[in-house]
Amino acid sequence: MYYSDELVEEVRQRNDIVDIISGYVNLKKKGGNYFGLCPFHNEKSASFSVSPGKQMYYCFGCGAGGNVFTFIMNYENYTFAEAIKLLADRAGIALPEIEDSKEAREKENRRKTLLQINKEAATYFYYQLRAPQGRVGLDYLKGRQLSDETMNRFGLGYSNKTSSDLCQYLRHKGYPDELIRESGVAVFNEKYGMSDKFWNRVMFPIQDVNHRVIGFGGRVMGEGEPKYLNSPETPVFDKSRNLYGLNFARTARQDNIILCEGYMDVIAMHQAGFTQAVASLGTAFTSGQANLLRRYTENVILSYDSDGAGVKAALRAIGILKEAGLTGKVLNLEPYKDPDEFMKNLGREEFAKRLSQAENTFFFELRMMQKQYDLSDPEAKTKFYNEIAKKLCGFSEEVERENYTEAVAEKYNISMESLKKLVTGYAAKMGMAAEVIRPKQPVQQKNTPKEQQENVQKLLLTWLVEEPHLYKKIKKYITPLSFTNELYRQVAQELFPKLEEGKPNPAAIISRFSQEEEQREAASLFNTKLPYMQQDMESQSQVQEREKAFHDIVVKVKRNAYEQDLKASGSDMEALSRVISGRQELDELEKTHISFD
Ligand SMILES: [Zn+2]
Repeated sequence: MYYSDELVEEVRQRNDIVDIISGYVNLKKKGGNYFGLCPFHNEKSASFSVSPGKQMYYCFGCGAGGNVFTFIMNYENYTFAEAIKLLADRAGIALPEIEDSKEAREKENRRKTLLQINKEAATYFYYQLRAPQGRVGLDYLKGRQLSDETMNRFGLGYSNKTSSDLCQYLRHKGYPDELIRESGVAVFNEKYGMSDKFWNRVMFPIQDVNHRVIGFGGRVMGEGEPKYLNSPETPVFDKSRNLYGLNFARTARQDNIILCEGYMDVIAMHQAGFTQAVASLGTAFTSGQANLLRRYTENVILSYDSDGAGVKAALRAIGILKEAGLTGKVLNLEPYKDPDEFMKNLGREEFAKRLSQAENTFFFELRMMQKQYDLSDPEAKTKFYNEIAKKLCGFSEEVERENYTEAVAEKYNISMESLKKLVTGYAAKMGMAAEVIRPKQPVQQKNTPKEQQENVQKLLLTWLVEEPHLYKKIKKYITPLSFTNELYRQVAQELFPKLEEGKPNPAAIISRFSQEEEQREAASLFNTKLPYMQQDMESQSQVQEREKAFHDIVVKVKRNAYEQDLKASGSDMEALSRVISGRQELDELEKTHISFD
């Protein structure tokens, strides 16, 4: 932080959040809160809420949330220092000369410079493409039938055949070698010193959702290896948390996002009007990217190459989407290899039709599996059916499993009766009978145990903010160390002393985090809906029900912390001492009735 917590807090308090956001978003009052169309994602109905009481905003659609600082930072694409400057000016507060935390300031300056270098490099590449020496690149892109407008939109460029002209250009602009190297546009070699990382390549600047260039992908001209080369990860480029094209796709106003394999697929699709296309960044699709997508859509359509490698990648991506709770569908591009080729041959209308016919991932998986079996051979056929049954066991929800069993039976012309038998038989054989027959669990069952534990921790924090008086009932058992999630622990460290004073201050806590991801996550803590909301007039049984739910949550958090300590106690003396007292506290807590009075 640049400024003292008190000053940051003063600036925040003197800028009412409803006032500030009204300047950007049309807000309507509804009950105690204000609602409007979210400026951070596309929507037709207002799910963006602003709470004057909490002095926070939260979008129930995309999860964007925070206080006045985060709003200005995200909306204006400002750093924290810029946001506080704007808000301090607005409130007539004079900011002192920046005095403290040299380290934080240096880190921020470094990030800023790296972004500048990326931007300079993108500009440089851009002009090279349009200069005589960029001819080879331009011819290539024109050959791919990209229009000038498309090339400009994506800021496409070209890196020359000379080995260090970009480095020279950046040096000339005054950037130090160390940062040029760190930005990833240059490589270093003991013998030759610093040289350009990219040469003789068509350049694809990679932008984050705020349109800042954070890295590059480059496609070699002619027969070089590798065909595609990407920037390394840097302090501003985290491949697993960005997607190519998302800066445009997030405002595409479509109910789906198309996930493709490469830069060219994305660009070709955008040019054809499918502006909801994105691609992972020269690496396989990751769960971080799936979580990022989940902010903008629930439906992801996979558009991977129809060759062996593409199918393999698609199957992998399907698993990741499922884990993230997203619905996936797979686009069938046959007989063509990729979307670009498909559209060139059959046109955009036909592509749109294929999009609407995209195949359910389950059937896609079956269809791919089927290719390994010769169905004219009875033995192979039996094996295939058994594999189907095994896959059907994967649906733990009975209705869903029944529906799929029925659909599969029809599609593959198997009698429903025998397929059902196979499924049950398979389940029993695998000792999964209980699993399969078990009715649907009310809790989200897609979560891993770790996620479930974190959800409970989150719920407890939310509950304490909503009903601060409950803090004194649990403080004997729960400390910030009880939170195994690092971010939640930090929030608890900030929140608990305030609860002790009876003055929780969520909006102030948000300012403690400097990364957008953390601010968002912290903001969501204070805006999650509790499963048991406090009613105006509660009946005795309602109160009891809430007391029980609260008690369950506290016990779970405590038990989880205890188990964590137990695991660590072999090597960690502090954990060992916590284990001893923790066991007693846990026993006591389990027997204790927490009353809401
Ligand atoms: Zn939103």
